[in-house]
Amino acid sequence: MKKNKITSLYIHIPFCQAICDYCDFTKLQYFRIFAEKYLVELKKELNQVVDNHELKTIYVGGGTPTALEDDLFLILLEIIEPYSRYVKEYTFEANPESLSLKKLEMMKKFGVNRISLGVESTDDNILKAINRKHTFDDVKVAVSNIKKVGIDNFNVDLILGLPHVSKTLLMKDLDNILSLEPKHISTYSLTVHPHTVFYLDKIKEPEDDLSRELYELVHHHLLKQGYIQYEVSNFALKGYESKHNFVYWNNEQYYGVGLSAAGYIDNIRYKNTSNLDQYLKGINEKEVEEVTLKDLEEYQIILNLRTNRGIDLAKFNNIFNKDLYISHKDIIDNFIQNKLLYIENNHLIATFEGMMILDKIILELI
Ligand code: SF4
Repeated sequence: MKKNKITSLYIHIPFCQAICDYCDFTKLQYFRIFAEKYLVELKKELNQVVDNHELKTIYVGGGTPTALEDDLFLILLEIIEPYSRYVKEYTFEANPESLSLKKLEMMKKFGVNRISLGVESTDDNILKAINRKHTFDDVKVAVSNIKKVGIDNFNVDLILGLPHVSKTLLMKDLDNILSLEPKHISTYSLTVHPHTVFYLDKIKEPEDDLSRELYELVHHHLLKQGYIQYEVSNFALKGYESKHNFVYWNNEQYYGVGLSAAGYIDNIRYKNTSNLDQYLKGINEKEVEEVTLKDLEEYQIILNLRTNRGIDLAKFNNIFNKDLYISHKDIIDNFIQNKLLYIENNHLIATFEGMMILDKIILELI
């Protein structure tokens, strides 16, 4: 398969100041001693893995990158600096309580132009109950500081279906979030993962009917306010769709660096070790999956259909020498008749109803 130039980089910072009750990401309680060693190994890995210094997007996620103390945060920015010179979209994830004006000034200086803020709920009682360490007032201060340093592009994360959720509370969340004027909003349905406090406390995920109602409410309310739903879980004002995430959904290759980071290089999808001890010793046993042409085709369908650009049928034909519409005519026609898919400008796209049952559609197509 053709080797394309890789222009995107994901960096994982696994430390958090507190662990949220629902969290299933690779994260660890922040300790300075580990963070110092981590940055040393991260620098080495970047040096070994990233051979293109003209990247277009960088996304620093976690964990909580802003959990690092100021001096270590500066070192992190300096480590990334050789790779960020030509970047068009440079995102840092942040939590409101640790996103100080000082850190924002540092980020601005190093070219960070997008912040993704973990808000999750705007109800202080719910935030406390799920062990988040911020209040909605902290969010307002963080956003005011983001704007103060001149970063106009920021995302707000919101979880749908947290305990005690109701449509009224969700409307309040949405109105509170809209008052912040974010360019981008990501909404995720609550999933209760094993080994989390939620799981041990037997917290239930919302029933399907409620999930659907919440999802519809978000969709209709945000569309009325001028946002575009450009991916199953993501909304943005026009021109503020995440360039970095489109690399994933376009099935393009990217570097992934840091503990448990996933990457896709030279037709190999990999995931770094999740063992901090090993990582700090410079041992990185990766999980590796070689992507065959058939896998590539499946990924193309699975990932492309998540977005409002859908599957570019001409491009698909170009890559796989296959007319997807002709080869799946009956299935696709059936979905089109049921208003779950449509074709526009030779792109096969899921409708809003289709996005709600995307897994089922994809299963039939692959
Ligand atoms: S801050 Fe984010 S990564 Fe850290 S525990 Fe909470 S949800 Fe997980």
